[in-house]
Amino acid sequence: MAEQVIEPRIRGFISLTTHPEGCAANVREQVALVKEKCPGEGLGNVLVLGSSTGYGLSSLLAAVFGYKSNCLGVCFEKPGEEKRPGTAGWNNLAEAHRLAKEDGLHLETINADAFSNETRAQVIAALKERYGKLDMVVYSLASPKRKDPNSDTIWSSVLKPIGEDFFGKTVNLRNEEVEEVVIEKATDQEVAETVRVMGGEDWQLWMDLLIEADLLAEGCRSVAYSYIGPAVTKPLYRFGSIGAAKKHLEETAKNINGQLQTHCAGNAWVSVNKALVTQASAAIPVVTLYIGVLFKIMKEAGTHEGCMDQIIRLFVDHLGPGKTPVVDEDGLIRVDELELDDAIQAKVDEVWPQINTANLRTIADFDGFQEEFRRLFGFGIDGVDYSKPVETVRDLI
Ligand code: NAD
Repeated sequence: MAEQVIEPRIRGFISLTTHPEGCAANVREQVALVKEKCPGEGLGNVLVLGSSTGYGLSSLLAAVFGYKSNCLGVCFEKPGEEKRPGTAGWNNLAEAHRLAKEDGLHLETINADAFSNETRAQVIAALKERYGKLDMVVYSLASPKRKDPNSDTIWSSVLKPIGEDFFGKTVNLRNEEVEEVVIEKATDQEVAETVRVMGGEDWQLWMDLLIEADLLAEGCRSVAYSYIGPAVTKPLYRFGSIGAAKKHLEETAKNINGQLQTHCAGNAWVSVNKALVTQASAAIPVVTLYIGVLFKIMKEAGTHEGCMDQIIRLFVDHLGPGKTPVVDEDGLIRVDELELDDAIQAKVDEVWPQINTANLRTIADFDGFQEEFRRLFGFGIDGVDYSKPVETVRDLI
């Protein structure tokens, strides 16, 4: 037993602590949603790369609890210790494992660097031993760095514009002020490294290996996630270094799709998802301020969605068994259509020039942004008694 009372300690886009019970409550909420909205069976064996937080966690929970699939997840998290709770992703999975066991469902996690050859070998061995061929592979890794699996080189990703410097507004999460920022244009080397980290190379390596190991079932589907976003973030995001990586990911999907069609009559797609508060997105300047503006407008329009709502729509309407995904002219699945709706974006364009520190909480939903951010780490959740000591050491049973 290692119980303690845990207070939030948030610095900018980093939380120095997590609340295991709050994280568990978050997971229970998501599981209740998928049990209500997904068909309850039919997905077979599923591998989720990046399974502990954000879109990957929602995908894992949808697969396990919404479709009763046998699920293997891979993530990179820290378990709790006597004096320190685990990372949010670890706490999330501890609860997901507990619930899966309670329901007699199969969920297993490999907590290791998904970019390494060792982890790939571990996954292949687990699949051969306990699963057999995969019916779905979800690729949802988001990382600031990637170590080359075959050397000591470490590539880093940057969030920078390409071609010219970016001048724009952002919210400083440390002092909660709206500020003008200048972000220097990326060098060619920085763009190339960002593509290495967040582009499609690693997804391709995973799929090559799974094909080689003959671990993909007839009709296997693979999906990775991308983001396009609005006019106000385009110079920094979509046309910037990270956008270059996303375009590489989208091109890679076409290649993997061809391979899967030949190998197992399968398919690969990229799904473009909505901007949401996750550990990855909270680190992106400008996007954080845009999320505050967007949330207010979408909540007023009644079209706001969370991670799990997005993934339920993706699985139920596009990727689930028997469904044929609807794609746009570039072959992309679009669950970001409510965000990019013309009326919503016209409102964003109207609000954006007016936003400043004084009206951040009135014409934008900065409170909503902060609330979502705290929730990622288990804080501010209804029904959790934060004055009570909680167990910090939790196992993935
Ligand atoms: P996230 O930070 O919540 O999750 C990232 C996951 O990757 C975690 O499970 C983490 O443990 C895992 N991970 C990171 N490095 C790893 C490593 N070396 N080995 C194993 N696991 C590792 O991120 P997210 O926002 O859910 O992003 C997932 C995908 O969705 C990304 O491709 C992102 O671009 C895309 N996306 C995000 C948004 C958004 O607004 N958050 C919108 C559209 C698309």
